[in-house]
Amino acid sequence: MVFSCIQMEKLQILITRSMRWGLALIIVGAGLRVEATVIYWPFPGLDLARQKSSSIQCVNNLKQISFGAQIWSDNNGYQFPQGFTDFTNELNSPAVLFCPADISRPAPTNWNNFDWGQIGYQWVPQADWYPAAVDCQCRIHNNDLFTDGYVRTAGGYRSGWPAIIAGPLEQEVTPGSDVQFGVRIAPGASLPVAYQWRRDQLYYVTNIVFQVDDADDPTIGHWVTNRVGKFTITNLNGATNSSYVIHGAQIADNDYYSVTVSNLMGMTASSEASLTVDPAVSSKATNEYWSAVNCINNLKQIVTLGRIWSADHKDLMPSSLSVMTNGYGLPMFGWPLALFCRSDKARTAPSDWTGLNFTNTSYEIFPGDIQDDTAVFCRCKVHGYYAQMNGAAILLPRFASVRRLANNRTELNLILLSTQTQVLEVSTNLVNWTTLTNYTATNGSFLFYETNSLPRRFYRVRVP
Ligand SMILES: [Zn+2]
Ligand SMILES: [Zn+2]
Repeated sequence: MVFSCIQMEKLQILITRSMRWGLALIIVGAGLRVEATVIYWPFPGLDLARQKSSSIQCVNNLKQISFGAQIWSDNNGYQFPQGFTDFTNELNSPAVLFCPADISRPAPTNWNNFDWGQIGYQWVPQADWYPAAVDCQCRIHNNDLFTDGYVRTAGGYRSGWPAIIAGPLEQEVTPGSDVQFGVRIAPGASLPVAYQWRRDQLYYVTNIVFQVDDADDPTIGHWVTNRVGKFTITNLNGATNSSYVIHGAQIADNDYYSVTVSNLMGMTASSEASLTVDPAVSSKATNEYWSAVNCINNLKQIVTLGRIWSADHKDLMPSSLSVMTNGYGLPMFGWPLALFCRSDKARTAPSDWTGLNFTNTSYEIFPGDIQDDTAVFCRCKVHGYYAQMNGAAILLPRFASVRRLANNRTELNLILLSTQTQVLEVSTNLVNWTTLTNYTATNGSFLFYETNSLPRRFYRVRVP
């Protein structure tokens, strides 16, 4: 029989899947089978925020380069510098010539043995300062410095950069479970691409520094103790694919794991994903409290991504989950898991984005204004928990607004959750409360109207 390459690949996936299913069953005693349990904790918002902060540092480097070039020019008859070497004395530090996104080229702290072949920026000599033109570019980010000092950030990376668009997921598993960490990189990354999985052991460094409180008297101040987490990184032998599997994970495997991805343009690393192997995970997996915590995490990730998206879209918040794509036109959420609540029994996260219907996930977006801090941005269809425009996740019912209308009418605008019964109560003295109405198994925004001629009434909504 002749298989095409694609068919062979599919066949392999089928075999791998059935093997994984087989391994996911642990035989306990005679005939008793316990299914391995895995709880995922996706953090795509934090991952993307980390990448954005690296791009902001890159923009700062370009601004430092701009200042250095202009100062040199002012002192040299307003000539236009022909290269970085003209104005190295005007740069604060050699570190500004290194883009923080490329970990294969760490920034040096001094000019000794400086290797110009390693720098992250390209100088583009111009005839003059005007008209404004690009005079320096980052090799990795779409960040361009203009001769007038303006830095244009088109967002994202130069084509070919092996950007991580879905990093390894944090996982809690029962002993004996198969653990799989995966990474997805940008389409169009220059080939060949190399992967290296790493085990990262967390340790803490404590230092104590004296912080001066009074600029006029350096003896006045206070001591600050800093406890900084760092990792001892060990490359895992032979772990050089886009996924890394630990068969039958045991407590000794508890640690952080990450992956580096590199090609001829440089190297990037994923965030560290923790692995917790613990027998207690089996009860945690069926515990509604922990499913709710997981849901709140998803909401926070989605709103963080929404706010990052808005920064690239004239401060408009996204109007749906499907418009939330990255510079490659792919969903920003890393893996589909972040869009599925563990309490949502009607829906299961698929393993990839192919054919995913964004309106049939556990979360829904409410179009609105980013300036309206407390407006609902994203809500879980099961819990009714929601993330506000300002990024906060809300777990209790609350008033969105209270308005006094004509003819002694009062309008209460309530935001309710579906998890518990909620009671709307009223009082004239904050001591004695009377129930106005109950809300059960419903969520969303509700208006309640009442009419009375009392000078003052207090309202509260609570979970009994
Ligand atoms: Zn850069
Ligand atoms: Zn939920």
